[in-house]
Amino acid sequence: MSTLLEMSGVSVSFDGFKAINNLSFQIGEPEMRAIIGPNGAGKTTFMDIITGKTKPDEGRVVWGDKNISLLGMSESQIAREGVGRKFQKPTVFEAQTVRENLAMALKNPRGPFDVLFYKKTRQGAERIEEIAERTGLSDSLNRIAGELSHGQKQWLEIGMLLAQEPRLLLVDEPAAGMTPAEREKTTEMLVEAAKTRAVVVVEHDMEFIRRLGCKVTVLCEGSVLAEGSIDHVTSDPQVIEVYLGR
Ligand code: ADP
Repeated sequence: MSTLLEMSGVSVSFDGFKAINNLSFQIGEPEMRAIIGPNGAGKTTFMDIITGKTKPDEGRVVWGDKNISLLGMSESQIAREGVGRKFQKPTVFEAQTVRENLAMALKNPRGPFDVLFYKKTRQGAERIEEIAERTGLSDSLNRIAGELSHGQKQWLEIGMLLAQEPRLLLVDEPAAGMTPAEREKTTEMLVEAAKTRAVVVVEHDMEFIRRLGCKVTVLCEGSVLAEGSIDHVTSDPQVIEVYLGR
């Protein structure tokens, strides 16, 4: 496993308040990582730094085998480097079918005409079916996205991100609002996705994190409070005090 992203000594202040404080973080390729921490710990800001939405005041963010800095890049350049982000609320094209949503998301369209015709090529169609299979949507390809359940919309959006073939996928609270069966399926999907890429999951549901079976990073006051297996971090007295004990 080689390092895909390395943050070191990163700090961000908002009006003099340090939301991220001398943060260092590394993720490999492939690797799954869960991020937990109390409200206000800096989890959203951490992801905003990776996607380029927020630029740090100090520190380094180095990306990939070419050792390039993400700090000089725009959000769209970073997305093109292979960083995909899933926000908590699903954002799919509600009036389009599942197939059309996936077709629009496929990597490498060079313009609107590619988007229109890609799905008509055999390669595009096969790729869509493969992603639908991986996201439990094979039987729903012709359904209108707006009619899907909350869980299925979340899977469609995960599928749309996978269609872009990201090297790093950031996922914010995927299990929120899901039934236990949907949570189970989401776990399988993310574990599968993390076999070939880096996946960072921010989640409050500890049972869900346990099932991911990955290393956990605990953020608190903009820094890493603890890191390790779920059993290691959940037995750490400081983690219990600031997060679990609440
Ligand atoms: P989390 O996602 O872990 O709840 P955030 O990254 O959203 O934490 O926020 C970390 C801290 O930074 C919080 O105290 C929050 O109020 C503050 N913060 C985040 N974004 C801004 C902003 N744009 N302006 C001012 N304060 C902010």
